[in-house]
Amino acid sequence: MAPRVCILCCQAVKWAPVVFISAIVGWSYYAYVVQMAILTADTLVEKVIFLVLYHPILFLFVWSYYQTIFAKCRTPPKEFFLSQNEWQHLEAETNENNQKDQLNNFARKLPIQNRTIAGFPRYCEKCKCVKPDRCHHCSVCSVCVLKMDHHCPWYVVNNCVGFHNYKFFVLFLGYALLYCIYVALSSLKYFINFWSGGGATGVGRFHILFLFFVAVMFGISLISLFGYHIFLTVHNRSTLESFRAPIFQTGADKDGFSLGSRANFVEVFGDQKSHWFLPVFTSQGDGVSYASRLQPTITYNTMGTTPRPEPNLGDGVTYPTRTVDLDSDGLLGQRQRWMEEGDNESTYDNKGIESA
Ligand SMILES: [Zn+2]
Ligand SMILES: [Zn+2]
Repeated sequence: MAPRVCILCCQAVKWAPVVFISAIVGWSYYAYVVQMAILTADTLVEKVIFLVLYHPILFLFVWSYYQTIFAKCRTPPKEFFLSQNEWQHLEAETNENNQKDQLNNFARKLPIQNRTIAGFPRYCEKCKCVKPDRCHHCSVCSVCVLKMDHHCPWYVVNNCVGFHNYKFFVLFLGYALLYCIYVALSSLKYFINFWSGGGATGVGRFHILFLFFVAVMFGISLISLFGYHIFLTVHNRSTLESFRAPIFQTGADKDGFSLGSRANFVEVFGDQKSHWFLPVFTSQGDGVSYASRLQPTITYNTMGTTPRPEPNLGDGVTYPTRTVDLDSDGLLGQRQRWMEEGDNESTYDNKGIESA
């Protein structure tokens, strides 16, 4: 009984931010449609314009939010997973070099370019699989997620942002920002009326006052977030990759998957312009294999020796959370584990110099 109660409590906590955001949106609907557009707007024309413009924006905003939350995480295909025999064989091997060779042989047939600092396949010992390019293990979801961007506990509860929903997430941010801007601008006149003593009376004026404040507050916070993800999209980086560059045969390269701004945009939003602004899945590829600057067409020469990269492993920022198990290759030795997981005591500064 107790565990069931605990599970329900955990679920309630996990979903609390979604409930909170949904409640804010629900209240804003009442405040805008009923209190402002219907009861307060000065003329019939104004009422109609407010209502006609408001609803499509709200619809796209809610639709993209829904898609972001409920899109199903995509995990590596079965050929990336070791069989029971292969796993037992690997685990029974005590010589580290032999373990590495076994892993390398297993990955030789897989379409991967990214590797660890020592040049071996990235491996998840929790899922017992070789990680496809750009894939990371999320310790919140307990799975490896294709092209994982981040696990966001606020806007996207119970779901990672990754290949399966990155387009939805960017659209959600964009429409949420548009919603805030529209509500703030259209309520500005009535907000000013409030201070000059005119306009709505009673409770209605407080709804409009708070509506304006909430729209401005959320709008300001969304500008930087939306701008950042547009930047990442046109540079073909995930949030994780912007903090720590993926490693290729030639070394670490944070722009390794960048194919030019337009191609990068199309990779996420698809090549049909009519679908760019709709939260339907149009991202290109399978989420497993990616063209890169080294290999613009998808042909793979997988593992080889990787020279020690220039010490520029990203944007010089230590990733702030541990929701992501960044390539926890337990079989591959402590040095490699350090380089893959990051280290709490050692970081790279923005000049790429290792510092304690
Ligand atoms: Zn995993
Ligand atoms: Zn997750």
